[in-house]
Amino acid sequence: MNEIQSLLAVFAHPDDETYRAGGMLTLLAQKGARVWVLCATRGEWGIPKLPPKEAGEIRQAELECACRTLGIKPPRFLDYRDGALPQVNEDEAVGQVVQAIRELRPQALLTWPPSGVSGHPDHVAVSRWTEKAFQRAANPRTYPEHQDEGLHPHAAEALYHIVVPRSLAEALKMHHLHTVLDEAVTFTVDVSAVWDTKMAAIRCHRSQIANSPILDASEEKQRLFLSTEYYQEKI
Ligand SMILES: [Zn+2]
Repeated sequence: MNEIQSLLAVFAHPDDETYRAGGMLTLLAQKGARVWVLCATRGEWGIPKLPPKEAGEIRQAELECACRTLGIKPPRFLDYRDGALPQVNEDEAVGQVVQAIRELRPQALLTWPPSGVSGHPDHVAVSRWTEKAFQRAANPRTYPEHQDEGLHPHAAEALYHIVVPRSLAEALKMHHLHTVLDEAVTFTVDVSAVWDTKMAAIRCHRSQIANSPILDASEEKQRLFLSTEYYQEKI
């Protein structure tokens, strides 16, 4: 992780960035790396009883709060609808991720793994878009219209996935998560030094934490779940 100077994280919903990656994002920012979150939706269906537009505005503000707390750049959004990512025009969606890569020129990309960890179809979709964008952003023949906007091809050096090793899911009895073998983890990040910052970023997502099983759990369980983050490099 120490060699990462700039990182673009591509997620589906506000709060995707914090639980399993917030520690690394803030540690990178602390050592001077540029870190962005590109969020495909505003999580408009994530607040029961609130109309999507209103909920989306609240959750956008919550993600802005989390990014500020983590010390990373303000979030960017792709304006897609929560829950509908598998149905969108994929070439267009990938093109928007490519555009962000060509503009920001990050050294590394981060997203969900192909399983989405929770299996959420939106997570699975952004994982696929990001992998395609990682490949296409470097190719001048893809999305040539970006050149009219002064954007040039860019090859990021690495694509990382957030992963959950099997032993962690077993220890936490979170059998619903899609896991990877422990030996498939490329690197782990101990984020206990930034525990307070990560918890503050989680609390930014106020609309999402009322019924959070992890925040209601014992501190021991919270530490087990949140104080180490696991990443796998996509080869
Ligand atoms: Zn999500």
